[in-house]
Amino acid sequence: PYDVLIVGGGPAGAAAGIYAARKGIRTGIVAERFGGQVLDTMAIENFISVPETDGPKLAAAMERHVRDYEVDIMNLQRAERLLPAGDDGLVEVQLASGASLKSKTVLLSTGARWRQMNVPGEEQYRNKGVAYCPHCDGPLFKGKRVAVVGGGNSGVEAAIDLAGIVEHVTLIEFDSKLRADEVLQRKLRSLPNVRVIVSAQTTEVLGDGRRVNALAYVDRTTHEAHVVPLEGVFVQIGLLPNTEWLKGTVELTPRGEIIIDDRGQTSLPGVFAAGDATTVPYKQIVIAMSEGSKAALSAFDHLIRHSAP
Ligand code: FAD
Repeated sequence: PYDVLIVGGGPAGAAAGIYAARKGIRTGIVAERFGGQVLDTMAIENFISVPETDGPKLAAAMERHVRDYEVDIMNLQRAERLLPAGDDGLVEVQLASGASLKSKTVLLSTGARWRQMNVPGEEQYRNKGVAYCPHCDGPLFKGKRVAVVGGGNSGVEAAIDLAGIVEHVTLIEFDSKLRADEVLQRKLRSLPNVRVIVSAQTTEVLGDGRRVNALAYVDRTTHEAHVVPLEGVFVQIGLLPNTEWLKGTVELTPRGEIIIDDRGQTSLPGVFAAGDATTVPYKQIVIAMSEGSKAALSAFDHLIRHSAP
């Protein structure tokens, strides 16, 4: 069995792998796609000490760094079930392939995915004007016009944040009113360069073949079609944790985030979690890496306290 089995090979899992392996304990990483969301990222400008890199470069560097240590990387493997420790004290992870892995501790770092609008143009212009993370990509739209799709807390926060950077923000909400907290809505409405459109169904992201140049929507009350010329579209209709397979085993929030304490401990003994899949606020690479490191150290601490000598 492993001492630490990490499920998920994004920044959180990679950092956890390095921290665990450096303790000289038996470490494995099982990942559906090593690199995680980083693989889908273009410019990264907030990875501290590296002013500019891109996703594929950072993912390759993470993998090289992990491979400097004795870590079993089991890539292209999806975990489907987690079974709490039985009498043998080992937690079991069952894979879609039918294989099963046992470990003294398990570290969950399966990340999250942005909910998509599923309209024409969204996929085509992803990273070419279609963005999901205002902290990451906001500065790329300095002085330009953008839309934020989604009027919940994350959409309204994104619109307020972007209004300070870009020339103009159009906030588009499907419902007849915004769902964000009142204090955020008040702040939003006080901003001169924000326009709020409610009862609007986004129908298409338009572009010139290379980059986004407009967003089309239909007014749900009049059924009229409209086109907003702009350079960027931030989709803020939800971040979904990849934790469906954990329902009923570890404690999750109603939104599906794994509940952890400040050491990365979940509700199950010997099971830790880190990164975008958890309740930790602000989903970012440096944050996922530090959370992964912290959870690995907690797993090590658990081992020295609970394992037979
Ligand atoms: P993830 O990166 O999501 O990795 C999850 C891992 O778990 C993957 O290996 C996945 O394959 C695996 N996995 C999932 N389910 C299973 C399963 N059942 N079994 C096995 N493996 C599984 N952050 C920044 O700091 N700066 C940026 O510029 C930036 N830009 C971004 C741009 C885009 C387009 C996106 C999508 C995100 C961006 N982010 C950025 C956010 C950043 O990528 C995430 O916060 C970070 O990757 C989270 O790391 P993680 O390890 O928690 O999860």
